[in-house]
Amino acid sequence: MLDYHASPELLAGKVILVTGAGDGIGRQAALSYGAHGATVILLGKTVKKLEAVYDELLAQGSPEPAIIPLDLQGATRQHYLDMAETIRQQFGRLDGVLFNAGQLGVLGPFEMIGEDEWDKVMQVNVKSQFLMTQALLPLLKDSAPASVVYTSSGVGKQGRAYWGSYAISKFATEGMMQVLADELENTRVRVNCINPGATRTGMRARAYPGEDPASLRTPQDIMPLYLYLMGDDSQGVTGQSLDAQPDRIRPQAGQ
Ligand code: NDP
Repeated sequence: MLDYHASPELLAGKVILVTGAGDGIGRQAALSYGAHGATVILLGKTVKKLEAVYDELLAQGSPEPAIIPLDLQGATRQHYLDMAETIRQQFGRLDGVLFNAGQLGVLGPFEMIGEDEWDKVMQVNVKSQFLMTQALLPLLKDSAPASVVYTSSGVGKQGRAYWGSYAISKFATEGMMQVLADELENTRVRVNCINPGATRTGMRARAYPGEDPASLRTPQDIMPLYLYLMGDDSQGVTGQSLDAQPDRIRPQAGQ
């Protein structure tokens, strides 16, 4: 695990958007960013979950967050452009985005991947990130130094049998990060990927139903890397794909 201790004020004055902020790793990232002073914009599908995180942020004394209820499955370019405009009007800035929301889809043989299933996973895991990034880049450039963090996976770096469209979508995510980081090399917008590694969440439990969740690290355990990449301590770091749990021994090669 990264030996990084974020200053309590690391993200003070910053506005950070987190997708999939209602559950799992995204929920924890929102709480951690808020605890380090950020105003967090919570984007997700299930409003009730987002409201619960909103309340937790207020209860822990973080700046008042905002909620954007959006199903990435059906969102269009216009939704993202409207969202960017709303953020500009309400906050006047955007210092970072954690692209965390993701769909596991159906695990199974390549020959059995359904076209609908493929489209669904690619829409949420790849296309929505592409459209949202395009819409938000002007804001990020205006607020630079700024940080864009995508979420990858072990199967986004080494293909694995039966991980189908999910694995392929994570390779695409790594590619998007590299292309964008290279293009923005001479700007103050840095772009990186995090591979969380096996983490105790609902998605992990769906992928490995027989596994004892107690054997896994929690979202809170992996926050040092999430904080490091979002805060100014990582200025100059770009185009990297970093493991949140590089020390983890992977008997079954993890997600
Ligand atoms: P969870 O399933 O626990 O949480 C995913 C979040 O994404 C939820 O808040 C969910 O919202 C949101 N989301 C999913 N689909 C949509 C959609 N169509 N529109 C808006 N929001 C959506 O997953 P994790 O926390 O485990 O995973 C987070 C990221 O980390 C993912 O990108 C995943 O691929 C990656 N990852 C996770 C690993 C792990 O071991 N947990 C390992 C490697 C990578 P809602 O709850 O409302 O459905």
